[in-house]
Amino acid sequence: MEFAYTPTQRALQQELQDFIAKEVTPEVEAEMDDHGSLEHGPLTKAVYEKIKNKGWRAISWPKQYGGQDGSRLDQYIVEEEFARVGFNVGGGGSGAPTILAGGNQEQKDKYIAKIISGEYFFCQGFTEPSGGADLAGLQCRAMKDGDDYVINGQKMYTTGAQNATHIYLMARTDPNSTRNAGISIFLIPMDTPGITVRPLWSIQNEPRAPRGTTYGENRTNETFFEDVRVPASCLLGEENNGWNLSAMGLNLDRVGASRYLISVRRDEDIVNWVKDETNGVVAERLRNDPSARDRIAECWTEAQVCRLMTLRSMSIVEHDGKFTYEGSAEKVWAPEHGVKTTETIAALLGPYAQLLNGAEDAIESGLYAHNVMGAFQSGINHGSTQIMRDQVALRGLGLPRSR
Ligand SMILES: Cc1cc2nc3c(=O)[nH]c(=O)nc-3n(C[C@H](O)[C@H](O)[C@H](O)COP(=O)(O)OP(=O)(O)OC[C@H]3O[C@@H](n4cnc5c(N)ncnc54)[C@H](O)[C@@H]3O)c2cc1C
Repeated sequence: MEFAYTPTQRALQQELQDFIAKEVTPEVEAEMDDHGSLEHGPLTKAVYEKIKNKGWRAISWPKQYGGQDGSRLDQYIVEEEFARVGFNVGGGGSGAPTILAGGNQEQKDKYIAKIISGEYFFCQGFTEPSGGADLAGLQCRAMKDGDDYVINGQKMYTTGAQNATHIYLMARTDPNSTRNAGISIFLIPMDTPGITVRPLWSIQNEPRAPRGTTYGENRTNETFFEDVRVPASCLLGEENNGWNLSAMGLNLDRVGASRYLISVRRDEDIVNWVKDETNGVVAERLRNDPSARDRIAECWTEAQVCRLMTLRSMSIVEHDGKFTYEGSAEKVWAPEHGVKTTETIAALLGPYAQLLNGAEDAIESGLYAHNVMGAFQSGINHGSTQIMRDQVALRGLGLPRSR
């Protein structure tokens, strides 16, 4: 088994790093800091356009949808380099993999190329006020009415809904169904009458978390559906088969560069900071403290396990292997590792770990302090670690479903 990148992959990585050093200028970074990661200003849009023209947004996607039929690992290398500077490329986490797998030809033609190019951006409408872990208990209804469906209900934590062009919505289409039977998925334009988006401000909002913080978004949303009428062409796949489609899509969305980086950025940040920081006494103290060096090295070693789990998932996806529990396993290990590193760094920094963005003496614009507030969310969103463990037991180990 070869764990290192090939010379061609290393050359791609170098080309990306050179591009980023040239194009992601301090002015672009300042604009991104102002706008947050979901809303792009003109300078950021111009960089995205150059990324698209290089063909980097779609290396591994089918040619017929604007891709290059290339390797999933090459795509991963691209996604990782850009995610590190706050750019989201590649179509992962966007619902596109599920549309590719479960959509009809018309839907694939309509959506995939535009999702990859960034023209369409989907938010995800799964969670409801009654609880996201119990997804099978969802209440939002989509009732057939002639050639249309009429949707009523409420979704919680619809992150990015304020900027999204579409929502990827899970709703109950069979009113007599219970649990996961009778659920369908819809692809719905956000400007459809009857949809209202209301902000839910996050703990990262005031003061605003610096770019690169774990989670770091200043808002998510509640989204309301009142007699929202959509044509049947918005249904993804078959009616009442949404559960299977969403399980597959969520599993795929749980792996990839940005998810991997959420969990290991902290390790990279602290190593770089302790190595390079020359201003102030804290980094100097940590550099020379054997127990601090031990703890940083231990976290770094665990981070390599996250990397290997991610690369294993990429390899399975690339080789069309059976991808069942691996995303769930990664979604247990990586967020728990991210929380552990964050807490370790906080202990090492002592009182400095409490200084938020804007405070005098705050380290790295309060990055580590904001991480303390944001790290825990990655163990909850996109499937909590408790639910993921259950998935590993059920799908990975073949244990019977718990009662
Ligand atoms: C920052 C953030 C962004 C998000 N973005 C989106 C989004 O864009 N779209 C979307 O649809 N959702 C989104 N979510 C929602 C996320 O998927 C849910 O938070 C998650 O599914 C948990 O649901 P809940 O918060 O309602 O907690 P609950 O379902 O109330 O669960 C609370 C706790 O109880 C545990 N628990 C519940 N049931 C069980 C059980 N049977 N066995 C063991 N433990 C259990 C859970 O693991 C969790 O720790 C986001 C969440 C966060 C925090």
